[in-house]
Amino acid sequence: MLLEVKGLTKLYPNQKNIFSKSHTYSHAVNKVSFTLNSGKTLSLVGESGSGKTTTGKMILRLVEPTAGKIVFNNISLLELSKKSMLKMRKDMQIIFQDPYGSLNPRMTICQLISEGFAIHTNLTKKERIKSSSELLEMVGLSHHYLNRYPHEFSGGQRQRISIARAISLKPKLIVCDESVSSLDVSVRAQILDLLNDLQRQFKISYLFITHDLNVAAHISDDIIVMFEGNIVERARANDFFKNPLHPYSKSLLAAIPSINTFERERDLDIILNDLQNKLEDQNGCRFYNRCPEAMDICLKITPLLIEINDNHFASCHKF
Ligand code: SF4
Repeated sequence: MLLEVKGLTKLYPNQKNIFSKSHTYSHAVNKVSFTLNSGKTLSLVGESGSGKTTTGKMILRLVEPTAGKIVFNNISLLELSKKSMLKMRKDMQIIFQDPYGSLNPRMTICQLISEGFAIHTNLTKKERIKSSSELLEMVGLSHHYLNRYPHEFSGGQRQRISIARAISLKPKLIVCDESVSSLDVSVRAQILDLLNDLQRQFKISYLFITHDLNVAAHISDDIIVMFEGNIVERARANDFFKNPLHPYSKSLLAAIPSINTFERERDLDIILNDLQNKLEDQNGCRFYNRCPEAMDICLKITPLLIEINDNHFASCHKF
């Protein structure tokens, strides 16, 4: 097992009421647990505000968790000093949604790709240029582009450059945070194919964060559905798409025309978005207000995540 996350939690303080003496907190992520094996892809899906990006950032310690445990490659990450964690980043990379924002416009493509070499390796300048040029070719771009700047490329090409940079140090894990969301449909499919190829070649594991179930269907071995910071369903991808169990997962799937095509451009965030109506400390199912299958018990008792079928978990009183 490459990555094990146990009880990962992030609390943020709410704005203090001037009449209240005590602080209240909101769960951005609430006791999230999962594992990820080498060479596999786990997708975290859910609408905006579900806690999936915070989860990904906590694993890289770009956001510090409030509680929980993260074991990566048999090392407990939360026990590492900042300096040791920095060394660890060699094996853990992230690809963001906006390739333009994540590439320094003042640096050439060569400088951008070889930045990691300068920090983490002893390669000479000549070797760094040679490796950068090989990486560019590997992601489907000509090595003649090495001395160009990010603004000279299309969105898809920039994302290829971000991928070349992310794989430059041969990481074991890449967190892909909505990495294909800003691309148009055909480019998106090409980038997903590229990620799949690189995974086969280098046995990289992906933690793929997306609101788009079409994308998740294309790339995942396992799926986790998050709602308001909680895991509501976890399953192998095949089982999930054949037989989604949780009413929230069903509503996400019902909102897309076909999981086999990339036609949908509509953002799932618009399905329903009444997240602010919730009281943080309420009992009961957090999906109650939106659930077409809600029962009386759902309002009173919080459902636990339990195994319903082989390796297929859901938190719902229906089961
Ligand atoms: Fe719906 Fe109740 Fe299941 Fe929550 S526990 S998803 S309200 S049926």
